[in-house]
Amino acid sequence: MSETIVNRRVIQWFPGHMAKTLRLMETEIRNVDCVLQILDARIPQSSLNPEIERITSGKPHLYVLNKADLADPDITRQWLQYFKTAGAGCLPMDSKQKGKAGAVRGPITQELSALMERRRRKGMVGARIRVMVVGIPNVGKSTFINSFAGTTRAKAANKPGVTRGKQWITVDNFDLMDMPGVLWKKFDSLETATNLAFIGSIKDDILDIEELACGLLSSVRQIYPEKLLARYKLGEEALQLSPYELLQAIGAKRGMLISGGEVDTERAAKMLVGEFRASKWGRISLERPPERALVPQEEWEEDEDAPQDDR
Ligand code: GDP
Repeated sequence: MSETIVNRRVIQWFPGHMAKTLRLMETEIRNVDCVLQILDARIPQSSLNPEIERITSGKPHLYVLNKADLADPDITRQWLQYFKTAGAGCLPMDSKQKGKAGAVRGPITQELSALMERRRRKGMVGARIRVMVVGIPNVGKSTFINSFAGTTRAKAANKPGVTRGKQWITVDNFDLMDMPGVLWKKFDSLETATNLAFIGSIKDDILDIEELACGLLSSVRQIYPEKLLARYKLGEEALQLSPYELLQAIGAKRGMLISGGEVDTERAAKMLVGEFRASKWGRISLERPPERALVPQEEWEEDEDAPQDDR
Protein backbone atom coordinates (compact mmCIF):
# COMPACT_ATOMS: atom_id res chain seq x y z
CA MET A 1 0.00 0.00 0.00
CA SER A 2 1.38 3.43 -0.94
CA GLU A 3 1.20 6.55 1.17
CA THR A 4 1.25 10.28 0.68
CA ILE A 5 1.19 13.16 3.12
CA VAL A 6 -1.65 15.63 2.94
CA ASN A 7 -1.80 18.46 5.47
CA ARG A 8 0.67 16.63 7.73
CA ARG A 9 -1.51 13.54 7.77
CA VAL A 10 -0.62 10.32 6.05
CA ILE A 11 -3.27 9.22 3.62
CA GLN A 12 -3.25 5.60 2.48
CA TRP A 13 -5.02 5.63 -0.79
CA PHE A 14 -3.71 3.01 -3.20
CA PRO A 15 -4.68 -0.44 -1.99
CA GLY A 16 -3.52 -3.54 -3.82
CA HIS A 17 -6.78 -4.14 -5.66
CA MET A 18 -6.35 -0.81 -7.45
CA ALA A 19 -2.89 -1.76 -8.74
CA LYS A 20 -4.50 -4.98 -9.94
CA THR A 21 -7.23 -3.04 -11.75
CA LEU A 22 -4.66 -0.92 -13.60
CA ARG A 23 -2.84 -4.08 -14.71
CA LEU A 24 -6.16 -5.55 -15.86
CA MET A 25 -6.87 -2.39 -17.86
CA GLU A 26 -3.47 -2.65 -19.54
CA THR A 27 -4.30 -6.15 -20.70
CA GLU A 28 -7.90 -5.51 -21.70
CA ILE A 29 -7.51 -2.19 -23.50
CA ARG A 30 -6.75 -3.98 -26.77
CA ASN A 31 -10.12 -5.74 -26.57
CA VAL A 32 -12.23 -2.56 -26.72
CA ASP A 33 -13.03 0.03 -29.40
CA CYS A 34 -13.24 3.07 -27.17
CA VAL A 35 -13.10 4.31 -23.61
CA LEU A 36 -15.81 5.99 -21.60
CA GLN A 37 -14.22 7.75 -18.66
CA ILE A 38 -16.56 8.98 -15.97
CA LEU A 39 -15.47 12.19 -14.26
CA ASP A 40 -17.04 14.23 -11.49
CA ALA A 41 -18.41 17.41 -13.11
CA ARG A 42 -17.41 19.41 -10.02
CA ILE A 43 -13.73 18.45 -10.41
CA PRO A 44 -13.17 17.17 -13.97
CA GLN A 45 -9.41 17.72 -13.80
CA SER A 46 -8.77 16.15 -10.39
CA SER A 47 -11.02 13.19 -11.18
CA LEU A 48 -9.19 12.50 -14.45
CA ASN A 49 -6.93 9.59 -13.56
CA PRO A 50 -3.55 10.08 -15.31
CA GLU A 51 -2.85 6.34 -15.16
CA ILE A 52 -6.11 5.60 -16.97
CA GLU A 53 -5.22 8.30 -19.52
CA ARG A 54 -1.83 6.69 -20.11
CA ILE A 55 -3.20 3.17 -20.47
CA THR A 56 -6.08 4.17 -22.74
CA SER A 57 -4.31 6.81 -24.84
CA GLY A 58 -4.54 4.75 -28.05
CA LYS A 59 -8.36 4.69 -28.09
CA PRO A 60 -11.05 7.29 -28.78
CA HIS A 61 -12.49 8.75 -25.60
CA LEU A 62 -15.88 9.81 -24.39
CA TYR A 63 -15.75 11.77 -21.15
CA VAL A 64 -18.91 11.78 -19.07
CA LEU A 65 -19.12 14.70 -16.64
CA ASN A 66 -21.29 12.91 -14.12
CA LYS A 67 -23.11 14.58 -11.22
CA ALA A 68 -23.55 17.60 -13.50
CA ASP A 69 -26.70 18.29 -11.49
CA LEU A 70 -24.39 19.24 -8.59
CA ALA A 71 -22.00 21.41 -10.63
CA ASP A 72 -22.19 25.01 -11.83
CA PRO A 73 -23.80 24.78 -15.31
CA ASP A 74 -21.71 27.66 -16.74
CA ILE A 75 -18.45 25.99 -15.72
CA THR A 76 -19.67 22.62 -17.01
CA ARG A 77 -20.25 24.24 -20.42
CA GLN A 78 -16.64 25.46 -20.39
CA TRP A 79 -15.42 21.95 -19.63
CA LEU A 80 -17.46 20.49 -22.48
CA GLN A 81 -15.78 22.94 -24.81
CA TYR A 82 -12.37 22.05 -23.37
CA PHE A 83 -12.76 18.31 -24.06
CA LYS A 84 -14.40 18.79 -27.43
CA THR A 85 -11.57 21.07 -28.57
CA ALA A 86 -9.30 18.07 -28.03
CA GLY A 87 -11.55 15.99 -30.31
CA ALA A 88 -12.92 13.85 -27.49
CA GLY A 89 -16.60 13.28 -26.93
CA CYS A 90 -17.90 14.86 -23.78
CA LEU A 91 -21.31 14.91 -22.14
CA PRO A 92 -22.76 16.31 -18.96
CA MET A 93 -24.70 13.65 -17.08
CA ASP A 94 -27.03 13.22 -14.16
CA SER A 95 -27.08 9.47 -13.74
CA LYS A 96 -29.78 9.71 -11.10
CA GLN A 97 -32.22 11.61 -13.28
CA LYS A 98 -35.77 10.45 -13.77
CA GLY A 99 -36.51 8.55 -16.92
CA LYS A 100 -33.15 6.83 -16.38
CA ALA A 101 -32.12 4.37 -19.08
CA GLY A 102 -33.65 6.23 -22.02
CA ALA A 103 -32.42 9.64 -20.94
CA VAL A 104 -28.92 8.35 -20.24
CA ARG A 105 -28.57 5.97 -23.17
CA GLY A 106 -29.85 8.31 -25.90
CA PRO A 107 -27.15 11.00 -25.77
CA ILE A 108 -24.38 8.49 -25.03
CA THR A 109 -25.33 6.39 -28.05
CA GLN A 110 -25.34 9.47 -30.23
CA GLU A 111 -21.99 10.70 -28.96
CA LEU A 112 -20.31 7.30 -29.17
CA SER A 113 -21.64 6.70 -32.68
CA ALA A 114 -20.18 10.00 -33.84
CA LEU A 115 -16.91 9.15 -32.17
CA MET A 116 -16.73 5.77 -33.87
CA GLU A 117 -17.81 6.95 -37.32
CA ARG A 118 -14.33 7.52 -38.75
CA ARG A 119 -13.16 4.12 -37.56
CA ARG A 120 -16.27 2.44 -38.89
CA ARG A 121 -15.68 3.95 -42.33
CA LYS A 122 -12.24 2.36 -42.31
CA GLY A 123 -13.86 -0.97 -41.53
CA MET A 124 -12.29 -1.10 -38.09
CA VAL A 125 -15.37 -1.62 -36.00
CA GLY A 126 -17.59 -4.65 -35.92
CA ALA A 127 -21.35 -4.62 -35.54
CA ARG A 128 -20.98 -4.21 -31.82
CA ILE A 129 -19.11 -1.43 -30.08
CA ARG A 130 -16.97 -2.47 -27.15
CA VAL A 131 -16.63 0.24 -24.55
CA MET A 132 -14.35 0.16 -21.52
CA VAL A 133 -16.06 2.11 -18.71
CA VAL A 134 -13.57 3.56 -16.24
CA GLY A 135 -13.40 6.10 -13.43
CA ILE A 136 -12.19 6.82 -9.92
CA PRO A 137 -14.18 5.57 -6.89
CA ASN A 138 -17.45 7.29 -5.97
CA VAL A 139 -17.70 9.18 -9.25
CA GLY A 140 -21.03 7.44 -9.93
CA LYS A 141 -19.83 4.69 -12.27
CA SER A 142 -22.18 2.02 -10.93
CA THR A 143 -25.12 4.42 -10.97
CA PHE A 144 -24.30 5.41 -14.54
CA ILE A 145 -23.97 1.83 -15.76
CA ASN A 146 -27.15 0.83 -13.97
CA SER A 147 -29.05 3.69 -15.55
CA PHE A 148 -27.57 2.96 -18.95
CA ALA A 149 -28.35 -0.74 -18.78
CA GLY A 150 -31.71 -0.66 -17.01
CA THR A 151 -32.81 -2.15 -13.72
CA THR A 152 -32.37 -5.85 -14.38
CA ARG A 153 -28.71 -5.58 -15.18
CA ALA A 154 -28.28 -2.98 -12.45
CA LYS A 155 -28.76 -5.63 -9.79
CA ALA A 156 -26.22 -7.94 -11.37
CA ALA A 157 -23.66 -5.14 -11.60
CA ASN A 158 -24.16 -4.29 -7.93
CA LYS A 159 -23.40 -7.71 -6.51
CA PRO A 160 -20.43 -7.52 -4.15
CA GLY A 161 -17.40 -9.22 -5.58
CA VAL A 162 -18.61 -8.87 -9.13
CA THR A 163 -17.32 -5.31 -9.44
CA ARG A 164 -13.80 -6.22 -8.32
CA GLY A 165 -12.89 -7.72 -11.68
CA LYS A 166 -13.96 -6.83 -15.19
CA GLN A 167 -17.53 -7.47 -16.19
CA TRP A 168 -19.19 -7.33 -19.60
CA ILE A 169 -22.64 -5.75 -19.79
CA THR A 170 -24.50 -5.98 -23.07
CA VAL A 171 -26.94 -3.22 -23.96
CA ASP A 172 -28.32 -2.82 -27.51
CA ASN A 173 -25.28 -2.87 -29.79
CA PHE A 174 -22.87 -1.97 -26.99
CA ASP A 175 -20.71 -4.25 -24.92
CA LEU A 176 -19.67 -2.32 -21.84
CA MET A 177 -16.61 -3.55 -19.98
CA ASP A 178 -17.13 -2.37 -16.40
CA MET A 179 -13.86 -1.75 -14.57
CA PRO A 180 -13.62 -1.25 -10.79
CA GLY A 181 -13.02 2.32 -9.59
CA VAL A 182 -9.33 3.13 -9.40
CA LEU A 183 -7.12 5.98 -8.17
CA TRP A 184 -3.43 6.43 -8.90
CA LYS A 185 -0.23 6.24 -6.90
CA LYS A 186 0.98 9.81 -6.63
CA PHE A 187 -1.24 12.88 -6.66
CA ASP A 188 0.41 15.71 -8.56
CA SER A 189 -0.76 18.35 -6.08
CA LEU A 190 -2.29 18.86 -2.69
CA GLU A 191 -5.21 20.48 -4.48
CA THR A 192 -5.94 17.29 -6.41
CA ALA A 193 -5.80 15.20 -3.24
CA THR A 194 -8.10 17.53 -1.31
CA ASN A 195 -10.55 17.82 -4.20
CA LEU A 196 -10.77 14.03 -4.31
CA ALA A 197 -11.38 14.03 -0.57
CA PHE A 198 -14.10 16.70 -0.83
CA ILE A 199 -16.18 14.57 -3.19
CA GLY A 200 -15.62 11.42 -1.15
CA SER A 201 -13.29 9.49 -3.47
CA ILE A 202 -10.78 8.98 -0.66
CA LYS A 203 -12.13 7.15 2.36
CA ASP A 204 -13.19 9.55 5.13
CA ASP A 205 -11.84 7.46 7.98
CA ILE A 206 -8.25 8.15 6.92
CA LEU A 207 -8.81 11.93 6.78
CA ASP A 208 -8.86 14.70 9.35
CA ILE A 209 -12.40 15.97 9.01
CA GLU A 210 -11.61 19.43 10.43
CA GLU A 211 -8.77 19.95 7.96
CA LEU A 212 -11.06 18.80 5.19
CA ALA A 213 -13.83 21.20 6.22
CA CYS A 214 -11.36 24.09 6.51
CA GLY A 215 -9.98 23.30 3.04
CA LEU A 216 -13.47 23.25 1.62
CA LEU A 217 -14.38 26.54 3.29
CA SER A 218 -11.18 28.08 2.02
CA SER A 219 -11.90 27.04 -1.60
CA VAL A 220 -15.58 27.82 -1.68
CA ARG A 221 -15.38 31.21 -0.02
CA GLN A 222 -13.08 32.30 -2.83
CA ILE A 223 -15.22 31.13 -5.72
CA TYR A 224 -18.79 31.13 -4.39
CA PRO A 225 -18.74 33.38 -1.27
CA GLU A 226 -22.43 34.26 -1.71
CA LYS A 227 -23.50 30.60 -1.49
CA LEU A 228 -21.59 30.08 1.72
CA LEU A 229 -22.94 33.25 3.34
CA ALA A 230 -26.50 32.44 2.28
CA ARG A 231 -26.42 28.85 3.49
CA TYR A 232 -25.12 29.72 6.95
CA LYS A 233 -26.79 33.12 7.24
CA LEU A 234 -23.49 34.94 7.69
CA GLY A 235 -22.66 38.58 7.03
CA GLU A 236 -19.96 39.75 4.57
CA GLU A 237 -17.53 40.25 7.46
CA ALA A 238 -17.33 36.46 7.86
CA LEU A 239 -15.26 36.36 4.67
CA GLN A 240 -12.40 38.05 6.55
CA LEU A 241 -12.15 35.17 9.04
CA SER A 242 -9.59 32.38 8.75
CA PRO A 243 -11.09 29.06 7.59
CA TYR A 244 -10.91 27.69 11.15
CA GLU A 245 -12.61 30.79 12.57
CA LEU A 246 -15.24 30.43 9.88
CA LEU A 247 -15.76 26.81 10.91
CA GLN A 248 -16.21 27.98 14.51
CA ALA A 249 -18.61 30.75 13.48
CA ILE A 250 -20.76 28.32 11.50
CA GLY A 251 -20.70 25.77 14.34
CA ALA A 252 -21.81 28.49 16.77
CA LYS A 253 -24.62 29.55 14.43
CA ARG A 254 -25.87 25.98 14.37
CA GLY A 255 -25.65 25.75 18.18
CA MET A 256 -22.96 23.05 18.08
CA LEU A 257 -21.48 23.80 21.48
CA ILE A 258 -19.74 21.68 24.09
CA SER A 259 -19.48 22.39 27.83
CA GLY A 260 -17.87 25.74 28.52
CA GLY A 261 -19.53 27.26 25.47
CA GLU A 262 -16.83 26.19 23.04
CA VAL A 263 -17.78 25.17 19.54
CA ASP A 264 -17.70 21.45 18.75
CA THR A 265 -15.58 21.95 15.63
CA GLU A 266 -15.44 18.25 14.77
CA ARG A 267 -19.22 18.06 14.67
CA ALA A 268 -19.40 21.30 12.71
CA ALA A 269 -16.82 19.96 10.24
CA LYS A 270 -18.78 16.74 9.69
CA MET A 271 -21.93 18.75 9.14
CA LEU A 272 -20.19 21.06 6.64
CA VAL A 273 -18.62 18.30 4.55
CA GLY A 274 -21.89 16.36 4.62
CA GLU A 275 -23.90 19.37 3.49
CA PHE A 276 -21.45 20.12 0.70
CA ARG A 277 -21.67 16.54 -0.57
CA ALA A 278 -25.45 16.64 -0.35
CA SER A 279 -25.36 19.79 -2.50
CA LYS A 280 -26.93 21.92 0.24
CA TRP A 281 -24.61 24.80 -0.69
CA GLY A 282 -26.04 24.89 -4.19
CA ARG A 283 -24.39 23.91 -7.46
CA ILE A 284 -20.64 24.26 -7.10
CA SER A 285 -17.73 23.58 -9.45
CA LEU A 286 -14.37 23.48 -7.71
CA GLU A 287 -12.28 23.55 -10.90
CA ARG A 288 -12.16 25.60 -14.10
CA PRO A 289 -10.65 24.26 -17.34
CA PRO A 290 -6.87 24.78 -17.56
CA GLU A 291 -5.11 26.72 -20.31
CA ARG A 292 -3.30 23.63 -21.55
CA ALA A 293 -5.27 21.52 -24.02
CA LEU A 294 -5.64 17.74 -23.83
CA VAL A 295 -3.87 15.38 -26.24
CA PRO A 296 -5.69 15.83 -29.58
CA GLN A 297 -7.82 12.99 -30.96
CA GLU A 298 -5.48 12.48 -33.96
CA GLU A 299 -2.79 11.23 -31.61
CA TRP A 300 -5.15 8.65 -30.14
CA GLU A 301 -5.78 7.27 -33.58
CA GLU A 302 -2.10 6.71 -34.28
CA ASP A 303 -2.55 3.49 -32.37
CA GLU A 304 -5.20 2.15 -34.76
CA ASP A 305 -3.02 -0.82 -35.72
CA ALA A 306 -2.84 -2.09 -32.17
CA PRO A 307 -3.85 -5.74 -31.98
CA GLN A 308 -7.61 -6.32 -31.68
CA ASP A 309 -9.42 -9.42 -30.53
CA ASP A 310 -11.23 -11.47 -33.15
CA ARG A 311 -14.89 -10.68 -33.32
P1 GDP B 1 -19.01 4.44 -7.99
O1 GDP B 1 -18.16 4.19 -6.80
O2 GDP B 1 -18.25 5.27 -9.00
O3 GDP B 1 -19.58 3.22 -8.60
O4 GDP B 1 -20.21 5.41 -7.50
P2 GDP B 1 -21.74 5.06 -7.20
O5 GDP B 1 -22.46 4.76 -8.46
O6 GDP B 1 -21.80 4.08 -6.09
O7 GDP B 1 -22.25 6.51 -6.71
C1 GDP B 1 -21.70 7.18 -5.60
C2 GDP B 1 -22.73 8.14 -5.04
O8 GDP B 1 -23.00 9.16 -6.00
C3 GDP B 1 -24.10 7.46 -4.76
O9 GDP B 1 -24.62 8.05 -3.58
C4 GDP B 1 -24.95 7.84 -5.97
O10 GDP B 1 -26.31 7.89 -5.68
C5 GDP B 1 -24.40 9.24 -6.29
N1 GDP B 1 -24.52 9.60 -7.73
C6 GDP B 1 -24.14 8.87 -8.80
N2 GDP B 1 -24.37 9.53 -9.94
C7 GDP B 1 -24.93 10.72 -9.60
C8 GDP B 1 -25.37 11.87 -10.36
O11 GDP B 1 -25.29 11.96 -11.58
N3 GDP B 1 -25.88 12.91 -9.62
C9 GDP B 1 -25.97 12.88 -8.26
N4 GDP B 1 -26.50 13.94 -7.64
N5 GDP B 1 -25.54 11.83 -7.54
C10 GDP B 1 -25.03 10.76 -8.19
